[in-house]
Amino acid sequence: MTTSTDIPQADKVVDFIRQIVTEDQKNGKHPVPVTRFPPEPNGFLHIGHAKSICLNFGIGEEYLGRCHLRFDDTNPSKEEEEYVDSIKEDVRWLGFDWQDHLYFASDYFNQLYEFAEQLITIGKAYVCDLTGEQIRQYRGTLTEPGTDSPYRNRSVEENLDLFRQMKAGAFPNGSRVLRAKIDMSSPAIIMRDPVLYRIMKVPHHRTGDTWCIYPMYDFTHCLSDMLEEITHSLCTLEFQDNRKLYDWVLDSLNTPCHPRQIEFARLNLTYAVTSKRKLLQLVNENLVEGWDDPRMLTISGIRRRGYTPRSIRKFCDQIGVGKKQSWIDMSVLESSVREDLNGTAPRVMGVLDPLKVIIDNYPEDLDEELEAKNHPQKDEFGSRNLQFSRELFIERSDFMEDPPRKFFRLGPGREVRLRYGYYITCVSYDKDEESGEITALHCTYDPETRGGASPDGRKVKGTIHWVSAKHGLPAIVYLYDRLFMVEHPDSNKEQDFKDHLNPNSIKILDNCVVEPLLADIKPGVQVQFERQGYFCADKVKSSKGKPVFNRIVTLRDSWAKLNKA
Ligand code: ATP
Ligand code: MG
Repeated sequence: MTTSTDIPQADKVVDFIRQIVTEDQKNGKHPVPVTRFPPEPNGFLHIGHAKSICLNFGIGEEYLGRCHLRFDDTNPSKEEEEYVDSIKEDVRWLGFDWQDHLYFASDYFNQLYEFAEQLITIGKAYVCDLTGEQIRQYRGTLTEPGTDSPYRNRSVEENLDLFRQMKAGAFPNGSRVLRAKIDMSSPAIIMRDPVLYRIMKVPHHRTGDTWCIYPMYDFTHCLSDMLEEITHSLCTLEFQDNRKLYDWVLDSLNTPCHPRQIEFARLNLTYAVTSKRKLLQLVNENLVEGWDDPRMLTISGIRRRGYTPRSIRKFCDQIGVGKKQSWIDMSVLESSVREDLNGTAPRVMGVLDPLKVIIDNYPEDLDEELEAKNHPQKDEFGSRNLQFSRELFIERSDFMEDPPRKFFRLGPGREVRLRYGYYITCVSYDKDEESGEITALHCTYDPETRGGASPDGRKVKGTIHWVSAKHGLPAIVYLYDRLFMVEHPDSNKEQDFKDHLNPNSIKILDNCVVEPLLADIKPGVQVQFERQGYFCADKVKSSKGKPVFNRIVTLRDSWAKLNKA
């Protein structure tokens, strides 16, 4: 497998699936393509699902067909209504619409049951009394054929009677299953009499106690696709073998329509896990704040972090759809949001690690307003006024006591430009002798340089951001690092993926000072703190007048640089 960082920037390339759909549309086989996105409501959606959503709903839109949202809810022991709601919200947030095509596999339970009886009637399914463990033993291996179950040759009547008793609740959990009668020596293990129905006396989130037998994925999926007249049933590569069974069920039942299953490579991202089961562990073991923890690559997590739906859709376009397993570097996802926000996020100033600056020659009782652009390249963003006064905060890292020559920020005797403000020169600094910490800088300003230019043509190399101490708004900022320390946290089956969690994935800065206008920022709104990155007011932690910001992404790809170093 390869890791791609240099994804071509070209607009959507016509991938192999779209080629098939185009062809089917052109030759009249499927003038109206119908796809579906079929999540199991057993967890929140993650970035991998976004790829499948963009593909399925994208095709529905582009080919003037449609895409169904179908919940594959056949396992009542793991499924919950909360997940159904979150999945709907995530699909809508990405900007897609299933219109009135919302379905649940559980809506088909009656029909599926009828199909199962049909299979029994034509001699293609039987009730088997082997235990789960025995079924596994009889199945054989990749190199050895399986062995027929002793129950394989029950009569149609006996099978029908037993299956009806299973449905009626006559047998305990696990005591019997319904199996397809295919071929115990098939080279494809999935075809060795797979289980179609199991007994599970568990109430279902939608059908309650109506059923105590539930159909398996492989039986449900193809028939649900068929009932909805799906034309192209798109799934990830691990279902390649299941396609044989998919086709077998539809062929055996001689259904009026037979959707085509096509497999594509799943999205794998470095430094992340994308498996609902694993994400659920992180949530249940309180290793993260919840499904929407801003470090999680769930759709709700990246939404809370501040990613835009446009950036996710663009990302999915960029990575494309293929047949080859590959890893996408996390930096590709990060640059998609960076690029998007560069065009859309208004600029403001925020000081994350404040150091006080006292401008000795600035009048004590004077406040001034300085005009600042809301976007350096886009006039339509307008401008705002910044309050300027004698005491300011600047970033602690913008001062060095003994700076090297190429440090174009502040140091004793050095001059810088304050963004949209004046030139200031550092004349002295106060230092806590015990801790060695710099406590304040004393500077002078040049009144002739208002707005950031000097009439005498004097040049300064550095421009730094600042906030007036008197006017600034205190704020809390969360900086995030990757949740995992290694590129492939779940690649080693021997080791627990949680061992690779990054202990320093959150840094809380609780002493920040930002422009006062941010007191009213709506949670979920993104801004660029100049020179610092893109930030979003957190919807859980912010309260009125007290914003808490998540850093979405830095301005540059610091990781790419680190990797090269
Ligand atoms: P998980 O392993 O996280 O539970 P899943 O495949 O079991 O994922 P489903 O709810 O069954 O989750 O998935 C719904 C759809 O999303 C399926 O069609 C599946 O193929 C697709 N999908 C899941 N993960 C990815 C991924 N990483 N990349 C692309 N598509 C994915
Ligand atoms: Mg699944």
